Amino acid sequence: MADQATLTPERVTEALKSVIYPGLSRDLISFAMVKSIQVQGSHVEFGIEFSNEPPDVRATIIQAAEAAVRDLPGVQEVTIHSLQRQVNATKNIKKMESQNPFDHQRRLEGIKNIIAVASGKGGVGKSTVAVNLAVALAQLGKRVGLMDSDIYGPSIPLMMGVTGVPETDTEQNKLKPMEQYGVKMISIGFLIPSTDSPIIWRGLMVMKAVEQFLNDVSWGELDFLVIDLPPGTGDAQLTLVQKVPLDGAVIVTTPQDVALIDARKGLKMFEKVNAPVVGIIENMATYICPNCGHEEHIFGSGGGQKTCEEYGVPYLGSIPINLDIRVGGDAGKPIVAAQPDSPAAGIFRNIAQKLIERGHA
Ligand code: ADP
Repeated sequence: MADQATLTPERVTEALKSVIYPGLSRDLISFAMVKSIQVQGSHVEFGIEFSNEPPDVRATIIQAAEAAVRDLPGVQEVTIHSLQRQVNATKNIKKMESQNPFDHQRRLEGIKNIIAVASGKGGVGKSTVAVNLAVALAQLGKRVGLMDSDIYGPSIPLMMGVTGVPETDTEQNKLKPMEQYGVKMISIGFLIPSTDSPIIWRGLMVMKAVEQFLNDVSWGELDFLVIDLPPGTGDAQLTLVQKVPLDGAVIVTTPQDVALIDARKGLKMFEKVNAPVVGIIENMATYICPNCGHEEHIFGSGGGQKTCEEYGVPYLGSIPINLDIRVGGDAGKPIVAAQPDSPAAGIFRNIAQKLIERGHA
């Protein structure tokens, strides 16, 4: 039988269980990233299979894995091969699904509806939609929270025009959400000193942050908690949505084909974790000339609607490109608050109304 100091592939596996994937709560072994561990005397050799991680994340993982294995008694040399996995989104999702995606989910007391706002990629207006829907829900008389889980680019503080650091509720030992336009909100942007902090460090915080945002913020009673998800439909987003008992997901897309394909991945992601997709919002599909009022479908029309029909999900609406939406976003004045009578605000309120109609009262 192996004594304490005998080096075996099992010991190496155990050691690698301490290496957490950056930004997630799970380790390399649970993600089945470690391949063919071999031990020859004091030499340990194995592969780590990557999918689409950027080089700095790969380097961090390899360094952490090497350090963990080097710490084992009897190890003199460690050789790690970086392997490339052919990524297939559906396959990935299936793998995660088989590990019970609902393990981490539990309902949150006092919160009636949790709605995630997602997009296949960044820059499509996901945060803009999240902010305006949250304010629109508040305008419609609902108690609303807004949670910014977009750790790589927390834009909620800027878009809601809020700065400062949340106070601690000493009685409950919880963080008090900030408040603006009748919406309670929390963002990593309030908690980290600068968005220039290294991505990898912030990545490591994402899961912890989201769990704390859910459990350690004194939200009080809410009709709706709107979650601005990080852009994308990869493992990070999947792990996150598995942790939250979502009542619905709204997918934001732009009409360009590539973004629509990404939106389809989003649909599949929510399908796999059993979160109902409320529908797709098409953003920046049309341009309305401020002078003559003519509406131009600059990317061609009907893409969002077609995807919705194909997948049998509701088409929630189309938000035109509107300078006031961008200016309002940059100035911390969401259009539904700044220009509540504008057509764009009307579209957001309309979608908010749909959320109310399908939500838990
Ligand atoms: P994401 O959250 O998907 O990365 P944002 O909501 O941050 O995207 O939007 C990206 C940029 O596009 C922001 O400057 C925002 O103000 C602008 N924007 C979003 N939607 C519109 C729109 N309908 N019209 C004009 N500008 C928009």
